[in-house]
Amino acid sequence: MNRRYRKTIIAGNWKMNKSPSEARELIDALKPLIAKAKWCEVVLCVPFVDIAIAQRLLKDSRITVGAQNMHHEPSGAYTGEVSAAMLKDIGVKYVILGHSERRAYCGETDALVNKKALLALQTGLRPIVCVGESLEQRDQELTLDVITLQVKAALAGVPVEKLRQVVFAYEPIWAIGTGRTATAEQAAEVGTSIRATIRKLYGARAARSVTIQYGGSMNPGNAVELLAQLDVDGGLIGGAALKAADFAAIIQAANQ
Ligand code: PEP
Repeated sequence: MNRRYRKTIIAGNWKMNKSPSEARELIDALKPLIAKAKWCEVVLCVPFVDIAIAQRLLKDSRITVGAQNMHHEPSGAYTGEVSAAMLKDIGVKYVILGHSERRAYCGETDALVNKKALLALQTGLRPIVCVGESLEQRDQELTLDVITLQVKAALAGVPVEKLRQVVFAYEPIWAIGTGRTATAEQAAEVGTSIRATIRKLYGARAARSVTIQYGGSMNPGNAVELLAQLDVDGGLIGGAALKAADFAAIIQAANQ
């Protein structure tokens, strides 16, 4: 983390878990545990149907509510979809884009993620853009090449004045939901490489303002070491975000 130049952001990704009544239980349990977190921004990226209740329950807290996806077109005949403008209108600030599960199960490509990122920024939402390599790509030592391509594709057409609104989440696919975490060195290496790519595109000053998270089985046991890395400015947390005590412990790790 480098708190001087950029925000530390701990974001929970609830995925397709928690009905509104279960969301209430989890938030009620979480709120008192994180009352003192002051150094980092905390975001809960909840299912669409939980956004309203989460906002209501969190309105007097420092926790922000985010979404997990949005459509790439501004509006129109896209049955079942949710637009960036709709999210903005209800006060959502962050939206996860290009999560590896959406890339794998919904066929999201780098080009589509770029379209969504441009629309999110234009609408006033902060995209949390997920990038990450497969185990096969890591074994073939292709990690940095793959990530560089994903970062460049996501940022195509993003003007420098919008860059600091973009958050990257480095999420190695082999570490998501598997209990297998990247080592702190692996997370740091990729974080530093992402920043170097951004620096080449936008210059050093702009690059140092971008928050780069790590995600992939982050938990209370590994958070301190991961978050101590210079280019790991927070976490995107799946499984552990569903347990109030674990999520609060990760937030505490980010506040040390
Ligand atoms: C995620 O879904 O973004 C994630 C990092 O999940 P987990 O923490 O469960 O690996």
